Amino acid sequence: MKNYDPQMHTAEHILNKTMVNLFGIERAFSSHLERKKSKCDYKFDRSLTLDEEKMVENHVNEQLKRHLPVEEHWLSKSDAGKKFNIRRLPEDAEEEIRIVTIGEFDACPCIGAHVKNTSEVGQFIFGSSSFDNNGVLRIRFKLKRPEDDN
Ligand SMILES: [Zn+2]
Repeated sequence: MKNYDPQMHTAEHILNKTMVNLFGIERAFSSHLERKKSKCDYKFDRSLTLDEEKMVENHVNEQLKRHLPVEEHWLSKSDAGKKFNIRRLPEDAEEEIRIVTIGEFDACPCIGAHVKNTSEVGQFIFGSSSFDNNGVLRIRFKLKRPEDDN
């Protein structure tokens, strides 16, 4: 398993669901998470306006501020396949699939490490986005973590 940064990775879940909700696109097909800054790539057909970038940031932070519990549930592979896109899971994935939920806001299959509550993530900062003409929208973001205030 990758050594995820649980705060960044939980923020990634919320960003993905926000993109699904706001633009009707699929969750990121690729992501690169680092402690200082992260990026997620989406299939999309245009760049985002500055207003849209701000809207994405606001929506992500709205969810973070709700102090939502992050929990795991287990589903059989066939049940999971009916409700979720499990194409990104390894072929040899276990028969039981772990579904990670963030309150009622989000649910998706994931093997990564997460925080227990969105209050632990801090604040989501939209860095920038760019669109390349191959249909890939890249979003770069950072976190202002609760521990940064100390
Ligand atoms: Zn995850």
